[in-house]
Amino acid sequence: MRIPFIAGNWKMYKTVHEAVVFVKELKLVVKDVTGVEIVVAPPFTAVHAVAEAVRNTNVGVAAQNLFWEREGAFTGEVSPGMIKGAGAEYVIIGHSERRRLFGETDAIVNRKVIAAIGAGLTPIVCIGETLEERERNETLPVLDRQIKDSLDRLTGDQIAELVVAYEPVWAIGTGRTATAMQAGEAHAHIRQRLRQWFGADAADRCHVIYGGSVKPDNIRELVAEPDVDGALVGGASLEVRSFADIVTRSRPAAV
Ligand code: PEP
Repeated sequence: MRIPFIAGNWKMYKTVHEAVVFVKELKLVVKDVTGVEIVVAPPFTAVHAVAEAVRNTNVGVAAQNLFWEREGAFTGEVSPGMIKGAGAEYVIIGHSERRRLFGETDAIVNRKVIAAIGAGLTPIVCIGETLEERERNETLPVLDRQIKDSLDRLTGDQIAELVVAYEPVWAIGTGRTATAMQAGEAHAHIRQRLRQWFGADAADRCHVIYGGSVKPDNIRELVAEPDVDGALVGGASLEVRSFADIVTRSRPAAV
């Protein structure tokens, strides 16, 4: 049984102070919410302070990126162990902004995923097609390539524990959400490939969440799709009220 997983990706927003003020309010608002996994992903600078502020609550913490090496002369990079040590349990890997702006390929994503798992972090692995790829009817082959190459060499047990975020690039930050039917089709396809390549148990336990202009008023119809297990939320995660509304509306009882 997969419980909904809702993660807020704050991107390059919020100072340490703003991040701590946010989670202090959030943890009070969601303290009685059960049956949903709630995660926030602050910028690196605020990971430790946020993790301290939500310690022993139902709110978890993710980093937004990592580098695969343990340590060394890699100016500006942060290792999986450092992220774990700062108090995060999750890490977003391969977000389309990192792929587009920072040249991350599936091979790079794969190295990061393996390093994250090695450090005891749960990867939230982002995949998704561009608008051009969708218009050329290449959505499913693109997803196949991303799943195969980003998750290369992982075992079924490792797949079972991770989170795959299907984020159509054309829906991120554009206000243009995939319809529940489009999301449902892509998620069913992803689940079917996970079953084929990693086994039924892995596919049944892996969370496949949707990202792309998720808001309080569209979360219900998205999670009503059987293979949509939650959401990765950008813009609407920056306000406590809208993020908390998405969290509460993602519960099966709220559908
Ligand atoms: C994201 O950044 O992962 C995202 C889905 O952003 P938004 O919700 O703003 O589209």
